[in-house]
Amino acid sequence: MNVQKLSQKEITDLLQGKDDKWLFEEASKIKGNIFGKDVYIRGVVEFSNFCKEDCFYCGLRRSNGCLVRYRLAPLDIMRCAEVADSLKIKTLVLQSGEDYFYSKEQIAGLIQRVKSRYDIVVTLSIGERRNDELKFWFDVGAERYLLKVETFDEKLYEQLRPGKRLSDRIGKVMYLKELGYETGSGIIVGLPGQTVDSISRDIIKLSELNLEMIACGPFIPHPETPLGGYPPGDPLTTIRVVAILRILNPSANIPSTSALSSFGEEWRRAGLKAGANVVMPSLTPEKVKDLYSIYPGKNSGYDEIFDAVEGIKRLIREAGFIPSESKGYSKRRLDEKCS
Ligand code: SF4
Repeated sequence: MNVQKLSQKEITDLLQGKDDKWLFEEASKIKGNIFGKDVYIRGVVEFSNFCKEDCFYCGLRRSNGCLVRYRLAPLDIMRCAEVADSLKIKTLVLQSGEDYFYSKEQIAGLIQRVKSRYDIVVTLSIGERRNDELKFWFDVGAERYLLKVETFDEKLYEQLRPGKRLSDRIGKVMYLKELGYETGSGIIVGLPGQTVDSISRDIIKLSELNLEMIACGPFIPHPETPLGGYPPGDPLTTIRVVAILRILNPSANIPSTSALSSFGEEWRRAGLKAGANVVMPSLTPEKVKDLYSIYPGKNSGYDEIFDAVEGIKRLIREAGFIPSESKGYSKRRLDEKCS
């Protein structure tokens, strides 16, 4: 197979397990050549579970009246940054639902405070915000932004994200890139209505965006959403997607997601072996971490943040890799600058 450009037919075959041996070996070889044994750690602070959107697959959707909502005060968020620093985690991901409670200036203040106190890269993952906000935050020091598309199937996207348009989402991702952010996006694997063909098209379209960060996680039904009665995505198919994405995007940063680990930690290890080079433990304070329930069980499995991070480092070593203390800047961008 030509690894530079797998055809859609080849991707569809690989998704169905036609050649797992080749797929996983090739992805692992490519990852090893570029990243060696390093796995980057990004600490995630989920600072608000309020959301104005109503995505069918997400437990934070505004129609979920069963969820107790919270917002962290700036002081609590700074404590999380302190924890990251003490654990030698060099990236802090500030994540929330689409919550306009925090003004442009408040978010900027947080970015500046973290950057002035710690040698830490700030990533934002706070939704489809206005262009002037995105530019302002970049100008004050945010360096990365995550905005997942979830599915490139226009009909499915617009069914699952009522009132939203796929073209707007992709446009926003491109704008983030244009501003100079290391930009990330991703897809969900196993959404109701997806097929192997549509997943293979998602992989191609996601790869065509040339992003610095790419993620894919399995669909996990949340009982308080319209998709609560559907079966979950398949973790094996998800790690095949990870491996194909690695082959098509050799130097992109790709996480082995926490959604994968909700099928068992062995799946997070499998994600790393299949080509992922990033893990993103939650640093959200214990008192609210269970309330960030995009899907059931997210952030469960630990009572104490230090234990969680130690557990993640152990898992990385068990998978045969080394937890890296570097900032993990995008090698894809470095490659482009040097070419
Ligand atoms: S996926 Fe994001 S935008 Fe949609 S409901 Fe969940 S937090 Fe809100």
